[in-house]
Amino acid sequence: DAVVYWMRMEDMRISDNTALSQASELAVKSGVPLLVLFVLSPQDYKAHDRGARRIDFTLRNLRVIQDSLAQLNIPLYTLTHTPRKTLPERVLSIMTQWKVKNVFANIEYEVDELRRDIRVSELARNGGIQCTFLHDKCVIAPGLVQTKEGRGYSVYSPFLRAWLPHLRDTPDPLSCLPSPVANHTSARCHDVYGSLFNHEIPDAIEGLELRDGDAEQMRKCWPAGENSAKEMLLRFLYTKSRGSQLGQVDPLADGAKAPDKNPKDSRVGKYKDARDRLDADTTSRLSPYLAAGVISARECIRATVALSGGKVDASRDTGIGRWVQEVVWRDFYTHVLAYFPRVSMGRPFQEKFANVNWETNEKHLQAWKDGRTGVPIVDAGMRQANTMGWMHNRVRMITAMYLVKDLMIDWRLGEQYFMETLIDGDLASNNGGWQWSASTGVDAAPYFRIFNPYTQSQKADPTGEYIRHFVPELSNVRGDDVHNPSGNLADKLKYPRPFVKHSEARERAIRRYKVPGQE
Ligand code: FAD
Repeated sequence: DAVVYWMRMEDMRISDNTALSQASELAVKSGVPLLVLFVLSPQDYKAHDRGARRIDFTLRNLRVIQDSLAQLNIPLYTLTHTPRKTLPERVLSIMTQWKVKNVFANIEYEVDELRRDIRVSELARNGGIQCTFLHDKCVIAPGLVQTKEGRGYSVYSPFLRAWLPHLRDTPDPLSCLPSPVANHTSARCHDVYGSLFNHEIPDAIEGLELRDGDAEQMRKCWPAGENSAKEMLLRFLYTKSRGSQLGQVDPLADGAKAPDKNPKDSRVGKYKDARDRLDADTTSRLSPYLAAGVISARECIRATVALSGGKVDASRDTGIGRWVQEVVWRDFYTHVLAYFPRVSMGRPFQEKFANVNWETNEKHLQAWKDGRTGVPIVDAGMRQANTMGWMHNRVRMITAMYLVKDLMIDWRLGEQYFMETLIDGDLASNNGGWQWSASTGVDAAPYFRIFNPYTQSQKADPTGEYIRHFVPELSNVRGDDVHNPSGNLADKLKYPRPFVKHSEARERAIRRYKVPGQE
């Protein structure tokens, strides 16, 4: 007999992990070993636009986890399975071979994954195996905060107003869950269970390999493992921004271990006023770690409590409060996905915008992807995505809105490209961000409120340093020209001219949104 923890792409950690903690507790109580299984499903990755960077990050984290579990004599097996349709049967046949009576996993809220787990549960029930699926991704689980009518929230502010008291009223919602306990079998577990299964973690998934050079860059920008995530959190909460640090590889090099004396000067201390500055490096850069579950959202909130006099501060008036609000956005979009599954099936949340008339223009789409639209702030953002696998929130909004409202290209194509390119790709947050920008989502920007990319650029990058860093053609351009170079200057620097005039594109977008399906 054994207990199995089925680890998924969103729970790449050992500590504070709900399913792992409960699986371990039961294994200890029953006196049986705990085994960990991770199933690689290339067809799912392709179907869900998982990019090579996100897969590589998963594999790197798995290696760290496997080493840590080995210290506890807990084996981690990986299995690569196709076709994805038969994955439930495959998992069940393994459980049967291992003579497992209990399987634990954390819930993935996407539709395909929920269907898979329902099928696994049915098969398990027939085979006398108990499957337990647990909430872990959010600080507050979907279902626990809802409107008076018992529905999911579709507006953020009331969600936040309900989220906070729920947290305060629940006993210890943020307490750290017990870590797994070592297996005490005389033999090494994998000698007993492992003969049929692989404990070699593959270097890559076929068809989703990283390009040379990119692998190295990703390793430096986003080191794997729980310790790296924790250092990243400390860096954000306790150390000062040391200038813009644009595109910095090795973010931990600036000494997360040496806290600044005055927490008000730390990145989180400055977050309220400077979080939208592209040239300031004041955000946490924790999104890759949160998206992959290398750190729990609970731990992030818990760490802020120590700086807020022992309570959760989610106010607009402090840096910490504003940051907690951002983590709540992550909860919000996951709840939206759970309550309104159509958003994960390519549908707009607001059905009235299902038939907006989009342009089909491969050249414009490709130029946007390559960062060659001729609008410097858009190009800088896209080049940051292409080189770092990550973007600042403000520039995600600017680039997304530019694709949808200025180039009038279907938001789903942008959503897909972000998912493929960003190391923090997360369906709920990415879809939420895209539908916000496209004015089709919950609590979205109204369709007539359209960012002017040039004024956004001056506000978010007043020094122009962000643009100069990511768009080398403009690195010597001084003053305001960097935000909007004249045609002659652009030609001289071999930088493209924009495809559309913003004021005209804006009018076109408003016309098309006003009467979807026409023009
Ligand atoms: P911080 O400002 O330090 O915020 C802390 C954490 O809060 C983030 O790590 C993230 O987990 C969460 N968070 C912050 N802002 C948001 C938000 N608007 N929505 C949801 N969660 C948020 N975030 C992803 O994690 N994955 C995505 O695939 C993703 N795609 C996006 C696409 C678009 C078009 C837009 C507008 C936003 C998207 N976001 C996504 C949200 C946000 O841009 C990133 O989470 C943030 O930029 C990450 O940087 P950070 O960790 O320094 O954030």
